[in-house]
Amino acid sequence: MKYYSTNGKAPLATLEKAVVKGLAEDKGLYMPERIKPLPREFFDEMSQLSFQEVAYRVADCFFGEDIPAEDLKRIVYDTLSFDCPIVQVEENIYSLELFHGPTLAFKDVGARFMARLLQYFNKEEQVNVLVATSGDTGSAVANGFLGVDGIHVYVLYPKGKVSPIQECQFTTLGQNITAIEVDGVFDDCQALVKSAFMDADLNAHMKLTSANSINVARFLPQSFYYFWAVAQLERAKGKSQKAKDVVSPSSLALSRKEAEASVVCCVPSGNFGNICSALFGKRMGLPISRFIAANNRNDVFYEYLQTGEYRPRPSVQTLANAMDVGDPSNFARIYDLYGKSHDAITKDISGATYTDEQIADTIRQCLADTGYQLDPHGACGYRALKEGLRPGEIGFFLETAHPAKFKDTVEKITGCPVEIPARLAAFMQGQKQSVSMSRDFSDFKSYLLTQ
Ligand SMILES: *Cc1c(COP(=O)(O)O)cnc(C)c1O
Repeated sequence: MKYYSTNGKAPLATLEKAVVKGLAEDKGLYMPERIKPLPREFFDEMSQLSFQEVAYRVADCFFGEDIPAEDLKRIVYDTLSFDCPIVQVEENIYSLELFHGPTLAFKDVGARFMARLLQYFNKEEQVNVLVATSGDTGSAVANGFLGVDGIHVYVLYPKGKVSPIQECQFTTLGQNITAIEVDGVFDDCQALVKSAFMDADLNAHMKLTSANSINVARFLPQSFYYFWAVAQLERAKGKSQKAKDVVSPSSLALSRKEAEASVVCCVPSGNFGNICSALFGKRMGLPISRFIAANNRNDVFYEYLQTGEYRPRPSVQTLANAMDVGDPSNFARIYDLYGKSHDAITKDISGATYTDEQIADTIRQCLADTGYQLDPHGACGYRALKEGLRPGEIGFFLETAHPAKFKDTVEKITGCPVEIPARLAAFMQGQKQSVSMSRDFSDFKSYLLTQ
């Protein structure tokens, strides 16, 4: 399968090139040339399959032409060493919990897949992964690549703008991971990374690759858990109709009315990589009727849906800081996927935007009403879904991170203690190691040239 650039001025790339280069020569984002629909039989049987089996079938559509089945299967099965369960929060509203991986956020899925794919392609040379993070990407990528031979990871993050818990997950690792603390905001970090890829001297000096959500190896695998969510809902339908016959480890059961409803999916969005993978899933036949993109106050996409005009602006800091993105990279992919048609986009996707106060209210209210503990990102998703559902629909939102990653924020809002899972507590014991950097590209460049 070949990959083209959303800017249309770069040559087609192989999967290997798209993964190693990250960004096309014309600064566009790579898109797979074809999106293969999955056959009807797959959807008929998906409720009987495991997460890994479902994911492998999806992965095969994208990567099957380029990676032998055995290798691809191993990469997929290794990546998904944890579950992404769907749980009921209240009638008609379900949470797809994406925080059961090593760093307690959905980015573990893409990062782990990419680390394994890059290792598969990278036979001899040393590769350097540059990643800008507004919080969770850095930890997911750093942990996904930790200890992988022949790969060094540089994590750029905005000084003072990620939570102490997020920070310790990429500054305490050592080995092949270097944390770079940039005196600026997330967009500055992203700009440094983009400039590095375009810089001839640097590229002559070292082999660079990106692990931001722009990389096809990170963003395509995110489609796996949308299929898995629907598979779990399908399985739960079966249970309401013939409860006794179906043996399933999950206790999820849909009411008859829920089983007949069409499924809506709500995605808390920042750089729009996650929702973009869901839209690819829909192209492959995934039965989700429509999507809601939930934003915090960084709502340029919401504005685009309302006005048809895309006007990026500097990001502002919010409680849901992993969504503090002022110019979401993956807008280019969505725009391309829908043939640049505002009408087509608004037919499939609607939006919502929330202030910090609304996010806090939602966390408090949901805990009081349902007992379910949201994190600030999931709170945007939950609220947008609850406000957006129409009669005859059920929906799931993505709980994109564990509330413990935002312990102080969440506890201050609810007054209730948030328990820290053991795998997170382990990071917090470590010693911080980081390199201070200005937001000037020349400083970053000189630093890399000495590496
Ligand atoms: C990265 C992140 C998001 C936003 O995902 P995008 O793919 O950038 O839209 C939402 N929630 C959490 C917890 C994240 O880490």
